[in-house]
Amino acid sequence: MEHIAIIGSGFCGTALAIQLLRSAKGPLRLSLINRSGRLARGLAYGTRSVSHILNVPAERMSLFPDQPSDFLQFARKQMPEAKPGDFLPRRFYGDYLQDRLGHAIAEAAPGVRFSSLCQQVLELTEHGDRLRLLLDDGQPLDSQKVIIATGNFAPATPGPLKLLEADPRYLRDPWAPGALESIPTHANVLLLGTGLTMYDMALALEDQGHRGPLLALSRRALLPQAHRDNASHPVLPDLPQAFLRHMGLNERLRGLRRLIRQAAEDGHDWRDVIAALRPVTPQLWQSLNDTERGRFLRHLQTYWDVHRHRAAPPVAQRIEDLRNSGQLRVQAGRVLAAKATENSIDLEIRPRGARHSQRQVVDYLINCTGPCTDLRTVNEPLLCGLLDRGVIRQDRQGLGLDTDEEFRLLDASGKANPDLYLLSPMLRASHWEATAVPELRGHAARLAELLLA
Ligand SMILES: Cc1cc2nc3c(=O)[nH]c(=O)nc-3n(C[C@H](O)[C@H](O)[C@H](O)COP(=O)(O)OP(=O)(O)OC[C@H]3O[C@@H](n4cnc5c(N)ncnc54)[C@H](O)[C@@H]3O)c2cc1C
Repeated sequence: MEHIAIIGSGFCGTALAIQLLRSAKGPLRLSLINRSGRLARGLAYGTRSVSHILNVPAERMSLFPDQPSDFLQFARKQMPEAKPGDFLPRRFYGDYLQDRLGHAIAEAAPGVRFSSLCQQVLELTEHGDRLRLLLDDGQPLDSQKVIIATGNFAPATPGPLKLLEADPRYLRDPWAPGALESIPTHANVLLLGTGLTMYDMALALEDQGHRGPLLALSRRALLPQAHRDNASHPVLPDLPQAFLRHMGLNERLRGLRRLIRQAAEDGHDWRDVIAALRPVTPQLWQSLNDTERGRFLRHLQTYWDVHRHRAAPPVAQRIEDLRNSGQLRVQAGRVLAAKATENSIDLEIRPRGARHSQRQVVDYLINCTGPCTDLRTVNEPLLCGLLDRGVIRQDRQGLGLDTDEEFRLLDASGKANPDLYLLSPMLRASHWEATAVPELRGHAARLAELLLA
């Protein structure tokens, strides 16, 4: 009987398991392995905070590309008034994933054997015609096909903060369970980064009754744009064919601005143009050469991120309220140096455009710089081991891992491993857009088809 093992049961591993369970007809053994006991949650949907709200409307969060209203139907069983454009709590989405996984297991064809394992996979090696996983209880698990769905890595510590690494007042991983609980109500907190992670942390602090000042700092101090209220059924403008042909980065940027102006004249919102780009983003990304990709990452990525990864309206409103009240201040600049003293964290900050740096003293510092994408700097035995042995390779931009068009991981020489696959935001190396559910669910459905073919 063929055995497929999926490492990681966040959104990607769960979505793939569900697709396989629903489609497999014949004998199949499927193992879903997650290092924490909670399946179908992962980093994004494991939060307990009700302030952590999906940043995609309910109507676009179905697990299944071919059943777009599945999540909405699930939501309406508990919230009959839920509307397609509503932004619902992320933990409720975790309930949905768990529910759909439970149904898929119960309804799988008779020859399909499913098991879940609460284990960390430490190593993967070749063993005859199988892949052998070493689990943290010391047991091996052999499988014909393995899918790496291990998700995002915790943020890396920026160079100037290295001296803080051992200090408990520096929170490197804001997603670690209970990370914020140690912060006293009146503490003066620096949030390093001004993206959606900063939004989550500011709101979580507010929920725990925080009264102290919050300073959010990033190089450009660009904040995520807000979605429209009830952003249901946007009318996507057609992208002209000319926009899709190969062109340089500058020309493309000018073209995009023209499209947005044109869309505004035709009564569309700029968000509709960004949405219309979504299905063709991988094509656009793949048309860029390495130099252009590098230029995009240096000069345009922050602008792309704040327009593309937007905040739900209630979240954006709460952040605005925090700013209006003066509790949250947003500043453009960068940290040049940081050291921990007995009573505080002392920072040297250079405000954007200023010639001189200034001193800033805070009680706590939360790293909100977002997931680390550079495998060389993370402490993940499985992936680092595979990388060291040349079984997998990073892409040149350090965004993720190289794969072929069928999700097979490439080794150091560029050869695809026929049995080792990737399903994770690390697909951004080849797709760029591989972050949110609407893209990842499509990848999960396609990979399930390939695995069962
Ligand atoms: C905070 C946050 C909020 C988001 N909000 C939204 C949103 O509102 N809408 C949207 O569309 N997208 C959202 N996203 C994006 C997207 O949905 C997630 O990135 C997606 O959940 C990624 O899923 P994943 O399975 O790749 O990773 P994860 O969900 O992180 O799951 C990976 C799992 O693998 C396990 N694991 C890792 N290594 C091992 C190992 N060696 N052995 C065993 N298990 C291992 C981990 O414990 C984890 O459970 C959000 C992302 C984040 C980070």
